Amino acid sequence: MGGTFDPIHYGHLIAAEEARSRFKLDEVVFIPCGQPAHKKPYAVTPAEDRYAMVVLAIASNPWFTVSRLEVDRPGPSYAIDTIRQLKEQLGPEAEVFFITGADAILEIATWHDNGSLLRECQFIAAPRPGSDLRRLEEALGRERAALVQTLHLPCVEISSTDIRARVAAGDSIRYLTPEPVESYIVKRHLYRASRGPEHETASSDAD
Ligand code: ATP
Ligand code: MG
Repeated sequence: MGGTFDPIHYGHLIAAEEARSRFKLDEVVFIPCGQPAHKKPYAVTPAEDRYAMVVLAIASNPWFTVSRLEVDRPGPSYAIDTIRQLKEQLGPEAEVFFITGADAILEIATWHDNGSLLRECQFIAAPRPGSDLRRLEEALGRERAALVQTLHLPCVEISSTDIRARVAAGDSIRYLTPEPVESYIVKRHLYRASRGPEHETASSDAD
């Protein structure tokens, strides 16, 4: 599961756990992007902080791991490079799935070399408020849309954007993200109002 994870929250964790259980996955690897392909770098929290928050959030789940593949790779983070690297690490027997939310899969046509990406791995998409998975065919074409499996779970209306806005406004984020992530945000003074403008319309390749 790739993402900016700025910060990771229960929407990510619920989608990942549902994918793991429904598709009997041996492992879910969270891959925080290093340098988002489309987001303005200065608006994004340093990769090490986003990585640390993923580590804290997944600690209690024995099937969840985190990878530094994109954090350690210089240049913009393209999902296609990551999937190829991951497959190389795992060997030819591994079956690789890419877990996304509905918004990300509907935008995949804009991602770098998305044709190869859709051929390299299987896609699992979780529903997300505001993004209608019935539009998949319209967005990807019938053939490609058929390659995407969808999860059935209640929509979780949590986003990192909302969490950042809440922290900036001094509002509570309790129960939106695991408590250790919340404490880390406080400790590192993340998402305070002085941080600079957000770029809500942009999306990263891996998100
Ligand atoms: P931002 O608001 O900064 O874009 P985000 O909440 O969308 O953050 P990302 O890191 O961009 O989180 O998302 C990583 C992946 O997780 C994407 O595939 C996204 O669609 C998915 N995702 C994020 N939040 C949810 C959610 N609440 N339900 C289902 N999928 C989600
Ligand atoms: Mg997003």
